[in-house]
Amino acid sequence: MNRLRKFLSSYSFLGAVRALRLGLSRKELLVTGMCQACGKCCRRINLEGDEGWLRSEKAFAAMLIDYPQYARFRVCGKDEQGFLQFSCSWLNAEGLCKDHENRLPLCRSFPDKTLYFCGGTLPSGCGYQIREVRPFDRFLSEELKKRKE
Ligand code: SF4
Ligand code: SF4
Repeated sequence: MNRLRKFLSSYSFLGAVRALRLGLSRKELLVTGMCQACGKCCRRINLEGDEGWLRSEKAFAAMLIDYPQYARFRVCGKDEQGFLQFSCSWLNAEGLCKDHENRLPLCRSFPDKTLYFCGGTLPSGCGYQIREVRPFDRFLSEELKKRKE
């Protein structure tokens, strides 16, 4: 039951539509680009706990018991999917992380593909892009098949 709840809360409605579209088209996600150090993603963060993406301050408080390192985050609103959004108190006045070397794994892996499935988008002006693409091996086999026809 917990696994089902976790599965369901891993997607927003929009994220589920995206996952379905991806599966039906047999495409995969590709992340390209590089960070421009604008700091925007540190001002608008969705957090995922053991029970899925956080929707309530109560869930955030419960999460802090197991993950006290997340206490640096402050609730700053909700997104269109109803998920809580956080800003990070480690972001300094210059828009940079005050301890970049010791940032959290979630900061190191941004933009993670799970962002796409919670219905999120990259901040405007972000140097990364997330795109739905045909896997290269599939593209190649389709092209070879076409040439044989
Ligand atoms: S929003 Fe994109 S470009 Fe800006 S700091 Fe975050 S990852 Fe880098
Ligand atoms: S720890 Fe640093 S990189 Fe991570 S969200 Fe905070 S300011 Fe950004």
